[in-house]
Order: sequence, then C-alpha cells, then structure tokens
Amino acid sequence: MYLDRLLGLVSVDMGIDLGTCNTLVCVRGQGIVLNEPSVVAVYKGTNKVLKDGQAVGWMAKEMLGKTPGNITAIRPLKDGVISDFEITEAMLGYFIRKVNGRSRFIGPRVVISIPSGITAVEKRAVFDSAERAGARKTYLIEEPVAAAIGAGLPFAEATASAIVDIGGGTTEVAILSLAGIAVCESVRVAGDDFDEAIINHMKKTYNLMIGEQTAERVKIEIGSAAPVGPETSMEVRGRDMISGLPRKTVITSEEIREALREPIGAIIEAVTRTLERAEPELAADLVENGITLAGGGALLRGINVVLTNATGLDAKIADDPLTCVARGTAIYLENIEEWKDTLETDMEA
Ligand code: ADP
Ligand code: MG
Repeated sequence: MYLDRLLGLVSVDMGIDLGTCNTLVCVRGQGIVLNEPSVVAVYKGTNKVLKDGQAVGWMAKEMLGKTPGNITAIRPLKDGVISDFEITEAMLGYFIRKVNGRSRFIGPRVVISIPSGITAVEKRAVFDSAERAGARKTYLIEEPVAAAIGAGLPFAEATASAIVDIGGGTTEVAILSLAGIAVCESVRVAGDDFDEAIINHMKKTYNLMIGEQTAERVKIEIGSAAPVGPETSMEVRGRDMISGLPRKTVITSEEIREALREPIGAIIEAVTRTLERAEPELAADLVENGITLAGGGALLRGINVVLTNATGLDAKIADDPLTCVARGTAIYLENIEEWKDTLETDMEA
C-alpha cells in the first residue's frame, strides 16, 4: 500500500467513461484530458482495425468522410454491449496510451465506468484490455454509480437518490443508497434513437432521406421533449427518395417533438418502472431528493419537464451532464481506499 502511494506520485490516475458515443478520460488535478468519439475505423467487411491507433476516436471519424469504399467505422459499444472485443480493446488501449504517454514507465491506475447491463465476460474483456494497455491497477465501476458521484449526489449516505443517464445507445436508470445500487434498469433507447426517429419522420412525411449527422443536428438545434421556449424551424437537406436527387425542406420544432414522442415515452416508462420497484423507504427519500439527469440526452430541451410530469418528482439536470460520469470516475479513484469495499468494483486479476 505504501509502495502504491509512492508510485502514485509519479504515475497518472485516470477515470475513464467508456460510453457508447463518447469516451472521456479525467485525470486527477487536470480534469477532462480526452474526449473523443467511441469509434474505430476498420477495413470494410472485416473486424481488422486500421494500422496503429491511427484509426480511433476523432481520427477515425475524420477519416470516414474522406475515405472511399473499403473503410468503415464501428462503434463497438453502440448498444451498451460489447459487439467486438478486439475492437473495444484497440480503442481502450489507444485512449489509455494517449493519455499516459509512451515515455512513462509506470502504468496508470484506471477506473473504468461500464454500462450496468454488460455481462461478466464483457467486464472481464474491458478489465483485460486495460491491463494489456499497461494499467498498473484497474477498477471497474458501474456507470450509474459514477454518474451519481459526478453529479454530487449523496450516494454513500443513508438516503436514496435517483439517476437517469441518457447516453447514445443506452439509458441507465438507477436508485442508489448507502453506496450501492438498490434498483436499476438499462434500456437500449437513448440519443441514437432520437436521431433515428427524426430520420424516419423525414422519410415518412417528406420522402426525404437524411443522414445520421443531419438528424443529430436537427435534434440538438430544434429538438425537444416538451414545449419549452419559443418554437423554431430549420432547413434540412437530403436526398429525395423518389427522384433520387438532392433536395431541401423546412421543418418545425413542433413536428420534431412529435417525432420524438415514442423514444421519449420508452425512457419515461423505464424511469417509472424503476421507481415502482423501489422499496417504500427509498421511494420516500426520492420525494425529497428528486431525480437527477446525466448524459448527453439530458440536454434535450424539456426532458426534465416530461420526467417531472410523469413521476411527480423533481427532475433536474446535472451540471455539465456530458462529463458527469468521467468526473465521477476520477472522484471515485481519489476515494478508492474508502469506497472500494462497499462498491463491488474491484476485479482482481
Ligand atoms: P454515451 O455515454 O453513450 O457515450 P453521451 O452521454 O456522450 O453518450 O451522450 C451522447 C448523446 O447525447 C448523443 O446521442 C448526442 O446526440 C446527445 N446529445 C449531445 N448533446 C446534445 C444536446 N445538446 N441535445 C440533445 N442531445 C444531445
Ligand atoms: Mg455515458
């Protein structure tokens, strides 16, 4: 233990939010030092990662638009499960090495937040990847716990708090108390599904095919879950499904809200289902403490309003919801001696 402290002075402590959309790394004393898409470029039709780490994160994303034919992008955690271990490992390894620097001879201690829905085999794969990437010590933490810590919830106290983390591929709903998860649910409906609902709406209503990035832009610019603020409109471009030619049209915030109704409804259901499963004493605490929203999806206008209406509880958005989990992992690492026994996160090699 003493040696570990000593090593701590010369090595890096990293908290990693391994998200379905974005991976963030938070280093003690430095804050968020890496924030890149969880994307890996591979040769089309294979799972072969492009040579070196040249094909991960921003570089993979940038490469995509410009490279014809034989290269494609994979989001290995897209649905909150690890679709390909090798690709996930390549990605995680690249990020760890990028932050740690090649010259450092003592490996970092890393805490990685993982979706609460993943299997033991997947956990093991994440753990092993970190070790192979040079981590001196690796801890795994469930994402809702990291989100709660990052949001400053009293997660270790004898009072319940509720966290709803709406990411790209999954939404995690959890009720925490005494440093543990009392009830949780992970559903595969989140930000990506909002984009998809917009794509489908454009097809159905305008016979217009739009790309994923355009759909995401529409969501961020004019999307909402409830009528908050003035209604707006924007112009979108795509390809006409009948003529096959490029075309543009104007859409309104009202119609996009309508298009998002279904995925939003699924998230509301997941939240109410989880609340219904909570013990009465925990439920009673939530009347006081409310629900806290984290993840990029928490930034959708009015999402707190629909959740407040549906549950009768005060739903508030965490500060900087996109970095909440990463900041939580770093805080966890600072307090690891105190928390590691209560939180079942240590996976001894
Ligand atoms: P993950 O943890 O799964 O990687 P994030 O928490 O990084 O996901 O959130 C990514 C999702 O948040 C994406 O679907 C993205 O489109 C969405 N998002 C980001 N900013 C906004 C915004 N301002 N309004 C609505 N959605 C947003
Ligand atoms: Mg996340």
